[in-house]
Amino acid sequence: MDFAWTPEQEQLFEDVVRFAREELADDVVARDRDGVFAADLWGRCARYGVLGWPVPEDLGGKGYSVLTSARLMEALGYGCRDNGLTFALGAQMWGVQKALLRFGSAAQVDRYVRGSIEGRLLGGYGMTEASSGSDAFALTTTAVRDGDHFVINGEKVLITFAPVADFSIVFAATDPEAGRWGLSAFVVDADTPGYTAHPVEEKMGLRTVPFGRISLRDCRVSRDALLGGEGSGAGIFSFSQGWERGLVMAPQLGVMQRVLEESIAEARNRRRGGNPIGKHQAVSHRIANMKLRLDMARLMLYRTAWLQEEGRPNLLEAALTKIYLSESFAESSLDAIAIFGGAGYKTEAGVERQLRDAIGGTIYGGTSDIQRNIVAGLLGL
Ligand SMILES: Cc1cc2nc3c(=O)[nH]c(=O)nc-3n(C[C@H](O)[C@H](O)[C@H](O)COP(=O)(O)OP(=O)(O)OC[C@H]3O[C@@H](n4cnc5c(N)ncnc54)[C@H](O)[C@@H]3O)c2cc1C
Repeated sequence: MDFAWTPEQEQLFEDVVRFAREELADDVVARDRDGVFAADLWGRCARYGVLGWPVPEDLGGKGYSVLTSARLMEALGYGCRDNGLTFALGAQMWGVQKALLRFGSAAQVDRYVRGSIEGRLLGGYGMTEASSGSDAFALTTTAVRDGDHFVINGEKVLITFAPVADFSIVFAATDPEAGRWGLSAFVVDADTPGYTAHPVEEKMGLRTVPFGRISLRDCRVSRDALLGGEGSGAGIFSFSQGWERGLVMAPQLGVMQRVLEESIAEARNRRRGGNPIGKHQAVSHRIANMKLRLDMARLMLYRTAWLQEEGRPNLLEAALTKIYLSESFAESSLDAIAIFGGAGYKTEAGVERQLRDAIGGTIYGGTSDIQRNIVAGLLGL
């Protein structure tokens, strides 16, 4: 692994930080309070090319390597204070687009991936149900073949973008008797009769990205809506989880860097008892721990991205990255609140929001428990 950035990569990083600071700055504290998604900021990201960073140039993307794309997502997180926005960009890029690029027909790629890159179409990823989450393959949504069509019935919950998505990748059982081997994925347009997106549901963090339920009631789609072949749903899910798990948290590295810098400044400038609070070892060690977690998380994510780019196995590394980065972000956010004292507990400072946003990372894309199960399994247990 060679993590020495080229001058071009360095320049891109600086450009993205500048773009994020200048173009993605708004009153995120108010939008977080009100749970408002910034469609205009999403559009700016699309026009800047963010959604096409890891997509080949002949398909309308920038063709950047996985490592470069991850590093630029880090830059975005460093410059942009809207964690919901950067999370959703990553989920779109590594979850929705990668599944379509790998398994989609030429028509699906042309329509949905190009639409996503250009910011015209928002895609949802519908796996989780009320009675299946960690055990995703136990889903109960069905898709019954009817001539050249499938009729889908079921309900998906906790789906990022569900209330506003233009289309969703929906997982359903086409052969319920066959268990995981009988699952299939469909790309369903949101205006298909029988597809209902429910209103935005309130949540603890990442409040600037809407999520919620999708109901499918006798939702009739043509065979062309199948993603990959019939029965390839489990493979598609595992494939996109592999991408998302290892990379979706790249922006959080940038957030952790920014919060570290702000915490250092606070520890230097905030005086109590005549001294800067950073003179107390209790405070300075919190800063040291924040730096330690950040550097570890960064190396783990770069390693995962590099292995992915090289086409080498990285299941173990991706699961470790997901656990460590999500939990480190939460721990370092707690440390930052402690350093800022009562002011850090106030919403307007924006410090407490990091903690609320961080918790989501320990759940989406497979909980920390499930990631530990994966690691243990790969270690032979
Ligand atoms: C912000 C956010 C965005 C999301 N976006 C999407 C999306 O776009 N698409 C989508 O399909 N889903 C999405 N999800 C859902 C997410 O994938 C699930 O919440 C997650 O997989 C956990 O499933 P669950 O909520 O049903 O919890 P459960 O599976 O019911 O788990 C409950 C608890 O039991 C533990 N547990 C369960 N089984 C095991 C086990 N075998 N071993 C050890 N511990 C176990 C879990 O770790 C957890 O602590 C999102 C969730 C969040 C928070």
